[in-house]
Amino acid sequence: MSIEITVEHTKNKKEKPSSMDGVVFGTQFTDHMFILDYDAGQGWHDARIVPYQPIMMDPAAKVFHYGQTIFEGLKAYATEDGRVLMFRPTKNIERLNISNERMSIPEVDPELALEALRQLILTDREWIPEGEGNSLYVRPFVIATEPTLGVSPSRQYKFMIILSPVGAYYAEGINPVKIFVESKYVRAVPGGVGMAKTAGNYAAGLKAQEGATELGYSQVLWLDGVHRKYIEEVGSMNVFFKINGIVVTPALNGSILSGITRDSIIQLLKHWDIPVEERILSIDELEEAHKEGKLEEAFGTGTAAVISPMGELNWQGEKMIINEGKTGELSAKLYETLTGIQKGVAADPFGWTIEVKA
Ligand SMILES: *Cc1c(COP(=O)(O)O)cnc(C)c1O
Repeated sequence: MSIEITVEHTKNKKEKPSSMDGVVFGTQFTDHMFILDYDAGQGWHDARIVPYQPIMMDPAAKVFHYGQTIFEGLKAYATEDGRVLMFRPTKNIERLNISNERMSIPEVDPELALEALRQLILTDREWIPEGEGNSLYVRPFVIATEPTLGVSPSRQYKFMIILSPVGAYYAEGINPVKIFVESKYVRAVPGGVGMAKTAGNYAAGLKAQEGATELGYSQVLWLDGVHRKYIEEVGSMNVFFKINGIVVTPALNGSILSGITRDSIIQLLKHWDIPVEERILSIDELEEAHKEGKLEEAFGTGTAAVISPMGELNWQGEKMIINEGKTGELSAKLYETLTGIQKGVAADPFGWTIEVKA
């Protein structure tokens, strides 16, 4: 199968940010975007790169009413020697189709998706910011566009990719964040859509996030929706805890999003012979470990921040301070190594980076 993507170059190039300092995540977009249409009976068609622009949609489009939509997030990096690297893009495409399947959206051809990423990133190559911590955030997504109000899977979709230059997540280096353990609201339930990267999960989480922000916490830690007891994840990050020398992360149970950073961290830890366990982990076990002085480090993992150390957990008013509120040794080492691989300055024994070539 040949993959043909037409390209229409913009006639009005936008001004690029002169420095990434102070640029807020997800506020700047490049000159082009990718679009692919789907119509029942015809399948996916008309792959094209066009100037970045608003899209026209019918107000009855199903995505506005029933939220049939999914997204992905990954990064491309400019290396010091002038190459462009993507980090594990095939994992994102695989997950895109897992989310599609759950949301009754037709599968996107993985080869076409990868080729679309390659061509779009090359088209906007000059937008990839150089320098420590800077990258191009890549946002593929699918929306249901059929303009009918019946509750049924849409017969029309758009798969799109937009690009956003982003700076280092932490302007002043990595700093531990304060986390509020949520006990009123839940993010996901068994049999629900927690394992899909779908819009509703984030809309449903805003209320808890607002409450945590008011109390001075940066994110909420979600507990499971049935027992309200087992740790699931944080905002848009998976979580890891170093307890008495063993790194523990909640096992994927269908309601946790399967993070690619999570998978990379597990592989790195195994590579270093550091014991790592994927298992059920209760908030009581964490509290107990903290009391006994065995909760050594805690961190979240995700594409945007890579590693985000947690310096405090607030569980029903009790404040558990972790590693004196400072970044742990292992968290720092994982951050250095993973960002080094992504930037092409550290060895990549796993073959995680893919060079984007013309
Ligand atoms: C995207 C996301 C993550 C992290 O996944 P990565 O592939 O590591 O970026 C974790 N949890 C949720 C809910 C997410 O949406």
